[in-house]
Amino acid sequence: MEIGNIFRHLLIHNEAFVKSTEETKFLAYASHQSPYITLLTCADSRVHGHILGMDLFNKVFIVRNAGNQVAINRGSIEFALYVLNTPVMLVLGHTDCGAVKFATHACITKSKEIINLAKSFDKLIETDFSSVSREIKAEMLPLAIPIERGIPDLRKIQNEMKELAFLSQINVDYQIEKALKYFGDRVREGKLIIIGGIYDFVGAYSKQLGRILITNINGIVNPIDLQDKARAIVKRIPNYDETSEEFKVVSKLIDEKVTRIMV
Ligand SMILES: [Zn+2]
Repeated sequence: MEIGNIFRHLLIHNEAFVKSTEETKFLAYASHQSPYITLLTCADSRVHGHILGMDLFNKVFIVRNAGNQVAINRGSIEFALYVLNTPVMLVLGHTDCGAVKFATHACITKSKEIINLAKSFDKLIETDFSSVSREIKAEMLPLAIPIERGIPDLRKIQNEMKELAFLSQINVDYQIEKALKYFGDRVREGKLIIIGGIYDFVGAYSKQLGRILITNINGIVNPIDLQDKARAIVKRIPNYDETSEEFKVVSKLIDEKVTRIMV
């Protein structure tokens, strides 16, 4: 889009938002915020807070960077967890992540032996990242640590879309390891739960595009333990009628969405 039009949209669309929003809504949180989710996600333009399907204002504290990395914005996350006391941290990776691709490219160009391991490498190896600045590299290359861990397992997948989703999944696991290192006291005190997920807009996990799959809870990655943990969390809801239709829906969604790409 042409710059003038982008600028024009900036003016017009915000004004439409102002006109369509009740003033009382702004006044309700004019001098304080009380979010209950800290969302750490990728800066990718295909990923946005509203995929949670909820009103985000004063509810979701969002921290974003390339590759949803904990260390880059540790201060902002710590503020949300320790000062704002959000009880849930969601580390959300996504399918077709450019930062994951960049780090994977760096790994495969380093070693000739691994190029034949995965289908996704054929296309990736041809991508030219040579003009990328030192600053971009410095921010993305820490992702090579989890990617290197995931690469040997790719030979068991052999599906381009799933391979990249798997590497994003491994990155989320790694970021949660870091989060537990920094903020684990909060988890042990029962004040925080750290959930890992992948936003799937390509159909790597199921045919339902747009789903958030839950792939990690407090570092738990074994699929059976993960589902048990998810069920235990739901069971803690006070006065939740387990014979209700809603409970059945939630149980079914746990079956379908609390899952991982296994190798
Ligand atoms: Zn990304």
